[in-house]
Amino acid sequence: MKLGRFIVDTHVHAQRFAAGPEFSKAKLDAGKARYNDLARVMRGLTPYDNSARLLYDMDCYDVDMCVLLPAFGMTNELNLEIVERHPEKFVAVCTAMETQRKSRNGEIEWTPEAAAAEIDALLSTGKFVGLGEGMPADHTNKRTLGQTERMDQIRPIMEVARKHGSVARIHTGVVMGYPLTHHVWPETLNPIWATDVAAEYPEVPIVLDHGGLQGWWSQRFVEEAMNVAAAHDNVYLETGLWWTDMYMKALLDPNIGAEKLLWGCDWGASIPFHAQYGHQPPAYAVQLRKQPLVRHQVDVWGWSLKQLLRLDIVQDDLNLILGGNAARLYGLPVPHKRLFRPVGGELVPQPGDRDSIPPRCS
Ligand SMILES: [Zn+2]
Repeated sequence: MKLGRFIVDTHVHAQRFAAGPEFSKAKLDAGKARYNDLARVMRGLTPYDNSARLLYDMDCYDVDMCVLLPAFGMTNELNLEIVERHPEKFVAVCTAMETQRKSRNGEIEWTPEAAAAEIDALLSTGKFVGLGEGMPADHTNKRTLGQTERMDQIRPIMEVARKHGSVARIHTGVVMGYPLTHHVWPETLNPIWATDVAAEYPEVPIVLDHGGLQGWWSQRFVEEAMNVAAAHDNVYLETGLWWTDMYMKALLDPNIGAEKLLWGCDWGASIPFHAQYGHQPPAYAVQLRKQPLVRHQVDVWGWSLKQLLRLDIVQDDLNLILGGNAARLYGLPVPHKRLFRPVGGELVPQPGDRDSIPPRCS
């Protein structure tokens, strides 16, 4: 049975890397390489179009649409090519990948203004529905960034999001294999930091990537992410790697609820599952530092949809989590009006109200 009327994964990577050649250059054995080896070469890798596997999985699991995100060395251009081939199945968000690439290559010094200008130009094309994954950052930086300095880097990006009426994304949570540090994305280790920008830009919808849980068993960062979502009307939580109990916690919170949850699984990321049967949760996503890199396409949708299946909740709530909220926030085309419980009152544009949905980032 299809789990909802209109299913949208809001966090998908349709690009994949063949890491072998870069491992050879770095004199590493691809068969033995670990995640910290991958992190060393990752931003220099050339991505390829992995949409054939993605379309196969969409067919398997009845996923109607995906929001495509660039990350690491992926490109906005390749995501757009995939969207243009299947406009009924994909939309893309963008981030300042060229600024990142040029600063990495030593061609320019990374600045938040350069990143903001690149995103402004990309959103001005009208071809992207928002920005992400996460907020742009200086991937060459080796200094620990404090909260004030990092928030000052994020504010110019939020200005661009406000100008375009765009959905912004802030990355929260860590996954153990890649070193996500206070050098680049300190907010990912401190989801509560999103509080200030949420308050300063109340008209900008902010999605917290991973809802505090990119991987691992601890809910510490999830609780911080839930705090920000509960205290700010414009903050939403992405949930795909959550297990069942965490959904219920958010649904029981009178300031969160189904209206603020977006299914998004990081499909295409290199994150395996670890099993600890007999314990809670029996399986969870995490990169395993003592193991070689996962080589196959991990089946995240099967696992995540089972977490949702266990929730014995009103179907209209499940429909919001699985696609209705995404359709509303990203202005996605839906088959009919009034498929979803209205959120925000009758006067607020709902999915399917084509004329009244704000134009996508134009
Ligand atoms: Zn991702």
